[in-house]
Amino acid sequence: MSQDSSRDAFYRHVAQTSDAPMGLEIVSADGVFLRTRDGREIVDFISGIAVSLLGHGHPEVVRAVQEQAARHMHVMVYGEFIQRPQSALAARLASLLPDSLDRIYFVNSGTEANEAALKLAKKHTGRHRFVAFRDGYHGDTQGSLSVTGRDVYRVPYEPLLPDVAFSGFNDPAVMELITDEVAAVIMEPIQGEGGIIASDPQWLAAVRKRCTETGTLLIFDEIQSGFGRTGRLFAFEYYGVVPDILTMAKAMGGGMPLGGLASSSDIFRAFMFDPPLNHVTTFGGHPVSCAAADAALNVLIRDGLMERAPEIERMAREILRGTGIVEVRGRGAMLGLQLTDAETTRKAVAHCMDEHGILLGWTLHSNTLVRLAPPLIIDHALLEQSLMTIRDAVARAARDS
Ligand code: PMP
Repeated sequence: MSQDSSRDAFYRHVAQTSDAPMGLEIVSADGVFLRTRDGREIVDFISGIAVSLLGHGHPEVVRAVQEQAARHMHVMVYGEFIQRPQSALAARLASLLPDSLDRIYFVNSGTEANEAALKLAKKHTGRHRFVAFRDGYHGDTQGSLSVTGRDVYRVPYEPLLPDVAFSGFNDPAVMELITDEVAAVIMEPIQGEGGIIASDPQWLAAVRKRCTETGTLLIFDEIQSGFGRTGRLFAFEYYGVVPDILTMAKAMGGGMPLGGLASSSDIFRAFMFDPPLNHVTTFGGHPVSCAAADAALNVLIRDGLMERAPEIERMAREILRGTGIVEVRGRGAMLGLQLTDAETTRKAVAHCMDEHGILLGWTLHSNTLVRLAPPLIIDHALLEQSLMTIRDAVARAARDS
C-alpha cells in the first residue's frame, strides 16, 4: 500500500478516537526518535505514553522478538503449556518483587490487568465493594472504567459496577470508606492521567494499615509508573508500602503488548478453583511479548538505566522555570509540567511540535498539564537542549495567550 493510500485509509477506515488525531505518518522509529513520511525526525518526549523506556526498537528487544517469533508464536491459551519466555519472565519478576508478590498472571494490556485484579479481589474476599479515587485512571473496559474517577468518561457508560465509592486522593477521609465489606482499594501510587500527583507517604501507609485491619486488598496500579520510569522498578518501593496485588503493562513489554498482575499464591488460588478456569485469556502472556519483556528488563537492570530517571527529574526541575510555568511535579521520568492555562498549554505543545520537532502531550484529565516522559536512554545534551526549547516555547505561548 502506498503512503498516500495509507493516510486515506486511516481517515476512512480506521475507527477514530477523536475528531483531531495527531495523524503523524510514522515510517520508522529508533531510540528517542520517530521518523515521519515527510522526513522529519521527532524527539519522542512521551515515549508512546510511558511505554518506550528503552527508546524505540532497542536492538536486544528486537532480536528477542525475532528469535522467539521464529521459534514459536501462539501455541495455547494462557496457563496450559510451559513456554520458556513466560516462565523466564515470571521468575525474573518474582526475583525483583517482594516475596508476597511472587506470582504473575499475564494478560495483554493495562485495563485487562485491572479487570483481573478486581475479579480476583472479589473472589478472594467474597466481597463486592471497591474504593477508588477521584482523578484515578485504570482503563476503559467496563470494570476498570467503573473505578476510574473522572465523571466525564465514566458517566456516559453507566450503569457500570455498583458499589464503588470514590474518595479524594491523599484525603484522610478515605479511611472511613475502607470497611470489612470492601473487597479492594484500587489506586495509582502516583496518579498519571489525573495530572502526575504523588501520594503522600504517611497517608499511603495509613491506607495500607486500614486495608490490613479490615481484610481489604490493596491494589496498586503501576501500569504507568512501573518498570523504572520513576527511578525504581515500581514506585511503591519509594514508599515502603507493599500492595496485595500489583498491576503492570505499558513499558513492561519493551514495546510489545503485555500486561500482568502480581500477587501471592494464596490470593491467586481464587482463579484456580470453584470452578477451575474461572478467569482465562487466549493471548495473555504471548511468548513473543514475554521474550521482548524479558530482554527489556535485562537491559534496564544491566545498564543501570533507572539511574537516569533522577537525573532527568533534576534537570527538568532546574531548567523548567519562568514565564507560564507554575510547577514541575512527579518523580524521575514521570513528570508533569503545570502551566497557567489551557491556551498557553495548547500553544506551547504546538510550538514544540511544529517548530522544534519535540512531541509532548497532555494527560487525559487535565488540559493545563504537559506530560514529560522521555525514554530513559535520552542523552544528556539532547535532554538539556529539549528542556530549554520547551521552556522557551512555554514563555512564548504565555506571552501570546
Ligand atoms: N492504568 C493506568 C495508570 C494507565 O495510565 C493506563 C493507560 N494510560 C491504564 C491503566 C490502561 O492501560 P491500557 O491502555 O493498556 O489498557
